[in-house]
Amino acid sequence: MQRRLTLLAILIALGLATPFTISAQEATPSAPAGEVQQFADDTYSFSSGGYVSLFIVTDEGVIATEPGSLVDPGRAEAYKAAIASVTDQPVRYVIYSHDHADHSTGGAVFADTATFIAHHNAVDKIAARNDPNTPVPQIAFNDELTVELGGKTIELYYTGRNHSDNSIVLLYPERRLLFAVDFIPVSSLPYQNLPDAYPDEWIASLQWVDENLDFDTLVIGHPPGSGTKENVGQVRMYLEDLTASVEGARSEGLADNSPEMVDAVRADLEADYGAWANFDEWLPLNVEGLITAETSGADATPTP
Ligand SMILES: [Zn+2]
Repeated sequence: MQRRLTLLAILIALGLATPFTISAQEATPSAPAGEVQQFADDTYSFSSGGYVSLFIVTDEGVIATEPGSLVDPGRAEAYKAAIASVTDQPVRYVIYSHDHADHSTGGAVFADTATFIAHHNAVDKIAARNDPNTPVPQIAFNDELTVELGGKTIELYYTGRNHSDNSIVLLYPERRLLFAVDFIPVSSLPYQNLPDAYPDEWIASLQWVDENLDFDTLVIGHPPGSGTKENVGQVRMYLEDLTASVEGARSEGLADNSPEMVDAVRADLEADYGAWANFDEWLPLNVEGLITAETSGADATPTP
């Protein structure tokens, strides 16, 4: 493994690096393998089961995110093994991007060494699940929090309500990298019927990210892959166009969620967004989610 990493470092220096697959079985026989991608000297992602966790290695420990073990209970163990494959340092912090169980479940494997961090609004929601595998955050913040470890500094920001009321982003200024989960999809429609979302505030949240955070690389919670700051503006435009199109369809007398409304919205958006992932399947659901959020306020039922 050590030799492979040295080679990887050379490849990265040459701009030739590609993700490599670790064999988590070496450390935990029953755990599934995952993929580790290196973004910088000290910055990696672990991808497994369609979920991506960012982690940053320092001389005094690891800053990790997203145990992500709801769908695949072995994922947190595989994640721990993946971290151990690149460093001997223990995980000192685990950061939950938001409370949704598919991202926050499974951190107990890090509880012996780590302190858990989330947005203030996530704490009661995570505590209410009463899940022994999911430690309740011990550090919570409202607007921003700086985490320093081993001479390195990351910044956590709450950018307002969007995909949830407690989504935070991780900015690593030195690497010009942002980790954001579920509210800045890369060339994909937002998830299904926008469960737990606040579409208007989501648009404002994206605008805040655009205007206030400086980065080149965008790492997202799933699917594996990465984007750039441009994706922020693209998602904002999509949500603005979706909102305007639904309003336009209404003004033409089309009933909410009717096939006629969905067809009209599809016709409006297809040219700009038809190539995005999930356009066909999720557009009617996005329309439904937008309308539900408008009519029910902020109380859509949270789902993973
Ligand atoms: Zn979510």
